[in-house]
Amino acid sequence: AKDQGKNRFMTFENRMHEQLLNRLDQESRLREAVQRGELRLHLQPVAAIPDGRMSGAEALVRWQDPERGLQMPGSFIPLAEETGMIIDIDRWILMEACRTVRKWQGENPETAPAWVSVNLSAAHLDLPDLTDHVAYALATTGLSPHCLVLELTETVMMRDVAVTSARLQELRELGVKIAIDDFGTGYSSLGYLRDIPVDVLKIDRSFITGLVGNGRQQELVSAIVQLGHTLGLRVVAEGVEDADQLALLSVMGCKFAQGYYLGRPEAADQLYARTALLAAP
Ligand code: C2E
Ligand code: CA
Ligand code: CA
Ligand code: CA
Repeated sequence: AKDQGKNRFMTFENRMHEQLLNRLDQESRLREAVQRGELRLHLQPVAAIPDGRMSGAEALVRWQDPERGLQMPGSFIPLAEETGMIIDIDRWILMEACRTVRKWQGENPETAPAWVSVNLSAAHLDLPDLTDHVAYALATTGLSPHCLVLELTETVMMRDVAVTSARLQELRELGVKIAIDDFGTGYSSLGYLRDIPVDVLKIDRSFITGLVGNGRQQELVSAIVQLGHTLGLRVVAEGVEDADQLALLSVMGCKFAQGYYLGRPEAADQLYARTALLAAP
């Protein structure tokens, strides 16, 4: 019985060891990917309601893995966040998004998104040089600060309200806008809407899914839209997948929508080329 116990333990230990090696391997692959330039910028349109024209765009990262193909953020962002690599990834996306949209605005102002939003992970709020870095990206690319939106989730913002509001206020003084991402999913009070300075509220996809035929949910979303507008915020509905959802949001007075119905995320160059072509006489 004693030996059996020992064997079980060894097996468990081996398994732990294997998992650790696996993780280290994944970690070094991701590190190399960043260095080798395998990250890609994708953009998803944010449309104005009701006309459906692209108003702005959200920057979303992809990893073009030569072995496994295009990787979605869900498969590598968690590891990047644990290891701190997320800082480099987000900085790369920030620079690339500013550069791409600035170029687009210069070459094709009629079709260019008026603004671009970039996701920031929690770790950024702990860095004292966040504002300097954002200012550097704007100066290097020439993008107007008013054209940049930084997206943070409410959970991230709630970690330390005093530190967060100080950092975000610094950024807003540059002229950059701040968005609350996935609004409604954090188990937090509405107090932070009072204490933390923001400009944009993005209603989480889970509130839009099942909107049609659910009166209670419609009342809730309508109230969020009104609350946002009362506070002077731009309100964006996320995850809009069909015409009925869009029609309901339009009736509610929501002015911006993002989702597969309005446009899927695609490689930035591809979106640019396609949009410019559509607009050609
Ligand atoms: P998110 O910031 O909430 O981004 C929206 C996600 O919803 C994107 O997934 C987008 O492709 C997806 N989406 C958009 N419209 C629809 C729709 O109509 N239906 C459905 N089912 N999904 C829709 P994606 O690109 O896989 O990104 C997932 C998450 O990964 C993002 O959620 C964000 O939290 C994170 N992420 C993506 N890019 C970055 C980045 O550059 N930096 C950081 N820190 N996080 C990122
Ligand atoms: Ca986002
Ligand atoms: Ca979101
Ligand atoms: Ca999300």
